Amino acid sequence: MNLFASPDTMATNPTLAVLGFKRQLVYHLHIWAFIAVAPLIVVQWQQANLLLAALLILFFVNAALVVVLLRLRGVYFLKGRLFPILAVICAAYSTSINGHAGLYWAYPAAIALFFLLPLREAIACNIVFVGVMAVVSFLKFPEADFWRITFSLGLSCLFAMIFAWLVGRLQQELTRLATTDPLTGCLNRSQLADILNGQIQMRERYERVSSLVLIDLDYFKTINDRWGHLAGDRVLKEMTGRLRKRLRESDKLFRIGGEEFMVVLPETRQKDADTLAHQLLTSISARPFLDDIKLTASASVAEVYQGETWSVWLNRADQALYEAKARGRNQVINAPRPSRDPDEPLIDLTSPVADNGVTP
Ligand code: GH3
Ligand code: MG
Ligand code: MG
Repeated sequence: MNLFASPDTMATNPTLAVLGFKRQLVYHLHIWAFIAVAPLIVVQWQQANLLLAALLILFFVNAALVVVLLRLRGVYFLKGRLFPILAVICAAYSTSINGHAGLYWAYPAAIALFFLLPLREAIACNIVFVGVMAVVSFLKFPEADFWRITFSLGLSCLFAMIFAWLVGRLQQELTRLATTDPLTGCLNRSQLADILNGQIQMRERYERVSSLVLIDLDYFKTINDRWGHLAGDRVLKEMTGRLRKRLRESDKLFRIGGEEFMVVLPETRQKDADTLAHQLLTSISARPFLDDIKLTASASVAEVYQGETWSVWLNRADQALYEAKARGRNQVINAPRPSRDPDEPLIDLTSPVADNGVTP
């Protein structure tokens, strides 16, 4: 995966965008650490602090490796674990031999942990770090300084922790907003290619089947015309609630158009997906919405086959949905197996899906 994904990719895939920003943060922290540590190696070497110089060289080499591998290969070397370990050891050891000159480095080291490690790991690592620094400063400095150092370092960690925690929550919330539809809470199209590709990989690598169901409400325009757009919205909300009741945790429900939905069913064969599709349509037509709005829907079912791309898979389901509409609506049509000459390439429609329909 490319650290510096193009803005287009980031715009269409929120999860990738968050990952891209996290990696950029890692990249910049390592670059600046690399620049900051270089002169320290020389100073410590000149002062004959050979062990500290060696630790700093290790830190320097690790920072260089992280930067180069991230830049050239998109690989996060050792998941960045060496930076915090070495930073903490160097700062504690430097304080024990250099006094205040080493202590100053403890603050950026403690803060960097919150940017590089998962929050829980960073908290655990910082508790150990503040503890070690407290012991070192107790042994090295007068008692008043020991208290000052322990509290000021602890407070810096606390502020960094609160900041990292809030940024993490903000990321989660922004990802949720960018990947779901605000009206129904269903997944939106930004996740469509990723999730279908995930199922295709399971098919190709492990021979695991999965199916998808497309559902399109029948004559929904007349509901809006007759009861108003607001009532139409409430129907859509209630309808997705009914669909969810019949689905499993692992099933993924998408709203792929105004009144068009898609369910991705992992580990499900066409036959079982067909049974579920019938149940879903019954859950829509069995009871009126908002007390007296009667509604039906049409559906199609397609199991993924070896060698299909997600757009070919979705296109087969889409054609079957057209057929369900043409045959009079309120029914499920199974997409036929792809019949093709094995040497003939599949038609690939891997262009972005249009906003108003399933396929471009
Ligand atoms: P068909 O049986 O052929 O699917 O007929 P239809 O009327 O359902 O399909 P058509 O594509 O002609 O119209 C879809 C309608 O869905 C038009 C639009 O007003 C309505 N719609 C789309 N998005 C929303 C929405 O978010 N809220 C509401 N209330 N209506 C929506
Ligand atoms: Mg419709
Ligand atoms: Mg439609």
